Amino acid sequence: MDEFSLIQRYFTPLGLTKDRGVVEGIGDDCAVLDLPQGHQLVVSIDTLVQGTHFLSDAPAYDLAWRLLGASVSDLAAMGAEPRWLTLALTLPSVDEVWLSHFSEGLRAASLAYNVSLIGGDTTRGPLTLTAQVHGLVEAGRGLLRKGAKAGDIICVTGTLGDSRGGLETLLKSASDNEDVSYLRQRFYRPTPRVSTGRLIRGFASACIDLSDGLLGDIRHIAAASGVGVQIDSARLPISTPLKRYVGEEQARQWALSGGEDFELCFTLDQTHWEALQQQRPDWPVEITAIGQITSSNEVQVRFDDTWQASNVQGFNHFTE
Ligand code: ADP
Ligand code: MG
Repeated sequence: MDEFSLIQRYFTPLGLTKDRGVVEGIGDDCAVLDLPQGHQLVVSIDTLVQGTHFLSDAPAYDLAWRLLGASVSDLAAMGAEPRWLTLALTLPSVDEVWLSHFSEGLRAASLAYNVSLIGGDTTRGPLTLTAQVHGLVEAGRGLLRKGAKAGDIICVTGTLGDSRGGLETLLKSASDNEDVSYLRQRFYRPTPRVSTGRLIRGFASACIDLSDGLLGDIRHIAAASGVGVQIDSARLPISTPLKRYVGEEQARQWALSGGEDFELCFTLDQTHWEALQQQRPDWPVEITAIGQITSSNEVQVRFDDTWQASNVQGFNHFTE
C-alpha cells in the first residue's frame, strides 16, 4: 500500500468538518480554516517516540488516545476550546492491523476530545507519532503560567499519581483486577480537563497541565511568575485504587513526582477561590487546594510537621 492510499484509507475518513470552520481539510497542500471573530488561535504539538514514551507492545488503539490526550491537555491548560488536529506519523512499515487499530483509536479519541483531523504528514522511519492541536480562546483570555501572586491558593484537578501507577502495572505485568485496570486506564486514556480550563478562566491567576510531575511542573509557574511554592503533601488528592495498589507512602511520592497525570494545576487568590467553591455543583471534576504561593523563590513540600525544599526538576529528555 502506498502513502496516498494509506492516508485515504485510514485518515481521510476522520476529517469531520461540519461546523468546525474547515474550508479545506485533508487532501490539499494545506488546510484552510475560518477563525471566529474575537478569538485567538492556541497551538501546541506533542510527540511520542517508541522506546522513550511507550513500550513496543503498546496497543495502537490506546496510543492514539494517549497522543491526543496529552496534546489536548495543553489546550485545557490555556482555557482553550479544542478544534483541529494535524498528525505526523513516522512508521517503520505499513502494518495494516496496527494502522486500523490506530485509526479506530484516533476516531474515538478525536470525537471524545472534540478535535477534527485536518491534515498531516506520513513518512517511513522509527515509530514516532506527533499530534499538533489547535484551539480557540476569546482574545486575551487565555490562561498563562505567569500571573501567580504571593498568597494565592494552589489547586489541582482530579487525583495525582494514577498514571505512574498504571505504568508500574505494565512494567510489572501485574495481573488484572479492578484497581489495576483503573490505573492502566488512567495511563492510556488521559482525561484532559478542558471544561475545567474553560470554567476557571475568570478565576485563575496562572495555570499549567501536569505532564512531567507536580513538583517539576509547578516550578514552571513559580519561575514564570517570579514566586515560590508551598505544597502540603497530606492534602494531595490520591485515588483509592492507587493507595491500594502501592500503599500510602509510594502513592504520595508518585502524586508529587510521577508524570503524565494530565490534570490541571492552577493558582487563584482567596476571593476567587471562595467564588469558585460556590460553583462546586458545576465542577466537571473535583478540585483540591494543596498549598499556596509564597514570595520566596523556593518550592517547599510539607511532610508531616517538616517543610523540605524540593529541587525536583521534572522529567527532562536531555538531563545527563
Ligand atoms: P505534501 O506533499 O503537499 O505535504 P502530502 O502528500 O504529505 O502533502 O499529504 C497529502 C494530504 O494528506 C495533505 O492534505 C496532508 O495534510 C494529508 N496527510 C498526510 N498524512 C496525513 C496523516 N497521517 N493524517 C492526516 N492527513 C494526512
Ligand atoms: Mg504539497
